[in-house]
Amino acid sequence: MPAALVTGGSRGLGKEIALALIEEGYAVFVNYLSAGQKTSEHWRSAGGFAHLIRADVGDPLQVQMMAEHIEKAAGRLDVVVNNAGITKDALLLKQTEEEWDSIIRTNLKGCFNVIQSMAPLMIKSGGGHIVNISSRSGLRGNSGQAAYSASKAALLGLSRTAAVELAIHNIRVNCVLPGFMMTDMAMTADKAMAGAMRKSILKRLSEPSEVAAMIMSIIRTQNITGQAFSLDSRML
Ligand code: NAP
Repeated sequence: MPAALVTGGSRGLGKEIALALIEEGYAVFVNYLSAGQKTSEHWRSAGGFAHLIRADVGDPLQVQMMAEHIEKAAGRLDVVVNNAGITKDALLLKQTEEEWDSIIRTNLKGCFNVIQSMAPLMIKSGGGHIVNISSRSGLRGNSGQAAYSASKAALLGLSRTAAVELAIHNIRVNCVLPGFMMTDMAMTADKAMAGAMRKSILKRLSEPSEVAAMIMSIIRTQNITGQAFSLDSRML
């Protein structure tokens, strides 16, 4: 049975990606940080193979332990989706050092930690696919999102470098830039939502399930690596 890891899989986009992977027949390791009882119940009743793992992706030790756990439980790893992410919006002149550090730690260093710890198991498994979730904010910038934009822009560089270095091991690495989705992350951003709707040529937002479906087709495609896919109805 092929195995997959989805970071930040407890809710929002990550949850939809994990469900789509289960549907496709993967044993899915669903990583989370602070989700509680409700999440465990959801995954117990999801059917298929879903295994919850608590780990802070920003902590290399916890991520390494997660890799060892996956190796013990599944013996292989074929797909990694680096989805865990946070934002703490504030104007650049008001952003605190603590906010800046925590966003970069989770969104960028977390992704690096996961690639570095999971790639050896993927190599042993004969290769696979890493998908990193970036954002339009990383390409275009966005008022109030200095740290978030910086982390998501850096992810594009990290992904391309990983694609070049890991190609020899048959590991493909691509980035996805989802459109604006009404998840917990977005709920607090009324202005951003209104702006996204205004800029959308289709006058609509994105659904996490649509993004997950597109990610599944990227994973199924064998000859794509080092790319960034914008799944949006706003022009770049
Ligand atoms: P969300 O609903 O806020 O979910 C965030 C997920 O990340 C949760 O599962 C959370 O776990 C997990 N997480 C946060 N910090 C973590 C850490 N240090 N270690 C492990 N897991 C951690 O967010 P979302 O909207 O689904 O966003 C998913 C991804 O899409 C993010 O990378 C985000 O930047 C990106 N994105 C979102 C949008 C949008 O419009 N929503 C647009 C473009 C890109 P807990 O439940 O345990 O807290």
